[in-house]
Amino acid sequence: MDPATIQSSTHKIRQVENSCLFCRIVAGEIPATVVHRTETTLAFRDIDPKAPTHVLVIPVAHHADVIALAADPSAAADVLATAAAVAEKEGLTDGFRVIFNTGAHGGQEVFHVHAHLVGGAPLGPMLA
Ligand code: C5P
Repeated sequence: MDPATIQSSTHKIRQVENSCLFCRIVAGEIPATVVHRTETTLAFRDIDPKAPTHVLVIPVAHHADVIALAADPSAAADVLATAAAVAEKEGLTDGFRVIFNTGAHGGQEVFHVHAHLVGGAPLGPMLA
């Protein structure tokens, strides 16, 4: 679907994809438990947590996956900085994992890039 211009709650004009779940969370059309917000990123709790802390960090601007995000270095840096800020805020001093599921083999289900920030317990060699 074509991008649409919307008026956000902070009165900034943003480009969103009407059909994108996470763009709709950014727009406030779908509820989420937001834990951190910057001008360019949003972090909210995963509705189906796989660890004691499981937060999704997304760029406000729509990028389908981490490949598209990598083409926008400023947005990529902002997502990583927000992940680090949330890890500190959540007290993940013993470590954590940041995961970008990508494509079909990567198990990506929502095609608005998101970093899974997981921690709060030993995670083992791989995230199940
Ligand atoms: O990496 P992947 O695309 O599979 O992850 C999507 C994630 O989005 C899932 O962990 C799912 O629980 C989460 N989700 C969410 N809020 C929604 C819909 C999905 O946190 N409204």
